[in-house]
Parts: sequence; structure tokens; C-alpha cells
Amino acid sequence: MKRLLLLGGGHAHVYVLDALRKAHPTDVDITLVSPHVRQVYSGMLPGWIAGHYPLEACVLPLDRLAARAGVRFIQQAAHHIDLDAKRVECCNGEKIDFDILSIDTGPVTDGRIIPGAAEHALPIRPIERFIRGWETWLADLSDGNGGSIAIVGGGAAGVELAFAMRHRLERDAPTRNIEIHLVSSREEPLAGMPLILRKRAMRLLAERGVGFHGGRRAIHYDGHTLCLTGGTRLPARQCLLVPGAAAPVWPKASGLDTDTSGFIRVGPTLQSTSHPFVFAAGDIAAHAHPRPKSGVFAVRAGPPLAENLLRALSGEPLQPWKAQRRALYLVSTGERHALAAWGPLAWWGDWVWRWKDRIDRQFIARFTPR
Ligand SMILES: Cc1cc2nc3c(=O)[nH]c(=O)nc-3n(C[C@H](O)[C@H](O)[C@H](O)COP(=O)(O)OP(=O)(O)OC[C@H]3O[C@@H](n4cnc5c(N)ncnc54)[C@H](O)[C@@H]3O)c2cc1C
Repeated sequence: MKRLLLLGGGHAHVYVLDALRKAHPTDVDITLVSPHVRQVYSGMLPGWIAGHYPLEACVLPLDRLAARAGVRFIQQAAHHIDLDAKRVECCNGEKIDFDILSIDTGPVTDGRIIPGAAEHALPIRPIERFIRGWETWLADLSDGNGGSIAIVGGGAAGVELAFAMRHRLERDAPTRNIEIHLVSSREEPLAGMPLILRKRAMRLLAERGVGFHGGRRAIHYDGHTLCLTGGTRLPARQCLLVPGAAAPVWPKASGLDTDTSGFIRVGPTLQSTSHPFVFAAGDIAAHAHPRPKSGVFAVRAGPPLAENLLRALSGEPLQPWKAQRRALYLVSTGERHALAAWGPLAWWGDWVWRWKDRIDRQFIARFTPR
């Protein structure tokens, strides 16, 4: 009996679980290892912060998805792969043998990029830790003493979180006077998106009273003050790190071929370029034709990954895949309003938020067992 081990309950693996339920392969022992029984859907996280959704509406139940697919679920995080023995080692010491390994464990937030941040700031990942941190912040900030939150990272996630926090904090009198500051090494927020959208985001940030500090790098945080290049010192009771996707250390340390940032190099069949019995998809994978690290591309990798895992299990030839160049980006702005970009095209409006809301709810509904 062949053993397939799925590491991480990310976007692509959620699809794989659904495909396994439908294909129902025989003579295969399948295990999913992930540190939490639920997968928080990051696309809806800003909506939860803004107060539009309860947290339960933004999560997928990995344990139930696995059970429905006939897959054993182990609630653990992996920290090493013994590639010679074909064995994954988990943080609790548990060892799991496999014949085929598929990795969709997502990125990490590297707190070491800013001295002091690892001790005093809150990273956006792991998302479960961020959720607990935000709940604690809300309680602390309700003391009526004012102050400010600094968010480091002016990409789509940082911008959405800044708008969402502004919206949420305005709801209650004791938190209404908390300032939000967004720090970005780029001159404008939403780098890579159309110019008209970047300008629109700048204007909205100013209108909502979010301080934008473009073209600056955060260089130190001591729990009270965030120091930026150029000499700016931002008082910050809290600091959130959203600096973009970083790779965990264990894939490279285990001996997998990785790119210079530590992401697992894969070929067109999603197999590791060094170890063909290892597959990788989502943000953890590095393709020859790089795409932005985003949930949209992780979701798109689901069907070809599922197809090739099933083929690999039955000894059939694998099929090459190449991700589309463009993806639709939807960026919420706190209240029920959003910005959208598709290549050079841009839109915004309340209807864009309703569009995003529909896509997000459909994603959750599609993968939630009834
Ligand atoms: C606030 C925010 C909003 C975002 N909004 C959007 C959006 O609207 N659209 C978009 O396209 N992208 C969005 N992104 C980016 C998106 O979150 C990522 O690109 C996406 O999550 C990557 O998916 P993934 O499947 O690679 O990994 P993930 O979704 O991160 O899933 C990884 C899984 O692996 C598990 N795991 C982690 N480490 C281990 C381990 N060592 N062992 C076992 N399991 C492990 C995790 O618990 C998790 O279940 C957003 C990001 C943030 C932070």
C-alpha cells in the first residue's frame, strides 16, 4: 500500500482533499499533517477584523475535510524531512513515513528583518497567533489612553489590514482616537498594481486618516517606538509585521533544492527539482516562471497538483502545468468598499466589495462539508 503524506492544509491541499474524496483511490494510505484543525482563509481575515464576518465564517474545517476524503488528520507541524528515509519529523517528535510527499505549508513572516521586532512586534503569520494577538490588542487599546498602531508592509495585505483596523477601531469610543500608520519601503502602497489604483489607495488612506510613510524602511522597534530610515521615530503601542512572504528554514535544511530565498524549486509537474517523490504547491513553491506569492495562484495549483498526485500514486505519467500570468486582485478598504486590479485594468466601488464577498463566501461554502 502506497503512503501519501500531505503537509499543510493550504489552499492547494484543500482542493486535493476534495479531489481525493471524489476519486476515492484504493490501496493508498493518506495522511494530512497541519498544526491546526482549521484553516483560516486569509482573504476574509481583513473582513473579520473590520467586523463584517464572525471568525467561524472565515475558516475551513481541515479535520472534517480530511475525514470526508478518508484521510487521517494529524494535528502537528513538521520541522524536518529525512529525504533518504522518506520520513517527516514533527515538532512533537512524531515521525511519519511516506512514499510520496506533497508540501503546501505556505510562507512565514520573518521577524528578524527588524531588530527588536521578534521580541516586541506581532507577525501576521502564523495567522492563528495573529488572531490571538489582535484580540489582546483590542482589549488593551480599549483603555481609552489613545496611542497608535504601526503596520510594516505596504503590499495588498498590509493595506487591507490598515483599512480594516481603522474601520474596527472607529466603532467604539475608547479606540476611536487610536492612530494607524502604514510603513512601506516603496513610495506608494500596492506596488505592482496599476498606477490609478495606487493613487486611489493613497487618497483613501489619507481620507480615512491612516498615516502613510512611503519610501522608508523600519529599522528598529522597542515596543514603544518604531524607527524608520530618514530619522522618523513613530510612537507605536503596537506594531504589526506584514513584510511579504518568507520561506521557513526546514525545506532547505532538509536538503531540498530551493531558490535563493529558501522556497522549494519545482518543475512543471510540481515535483521538487531535486527529489521527484516530493511535490510542492502554493507560496512554498518556486517555479521557473515565478508568479506573485498569493492565494489566487495557490488555489490554481490545486487541480494540477491533485491530478499529478493521483497519477503518481497509480504510476501514470505526470502532466506539466504552468500558471496563468494574471490574477484578479481584490483589496478591501475597511467599510464595504474594495479596489480591484486585473493586469493594467482597475476598478473600485461598493459593488467590488460585494463581488469579493461573493467569491470569498463561495470558496468557503465549496469546501465546507455539510
Ligand atoms: C491579511 C492577508 C490577506 C490576504 N488576502 C489575499 C487575497 O485576498 N487574495 C490572495 O490571492 N492572496 C491573499 N493573501 C495571500 C495569501 O494568504 C497567501 O498567498 C496564501 O495563503 C498562500 O497559500 P498557501 O496554500 O501557500 O499557504 P497557506 O494558506 O499559508 O496554508 C499553509 C498551511 O500549512 C500549515 N503549515 C504551516 N507550517 C506547517 C508545517 N511546518 N507543517 C505542517 N503544516 C504547516 C498552515 O497552518 C496552513 O494550514 C493574503 C495574505 C494576508 C496575510
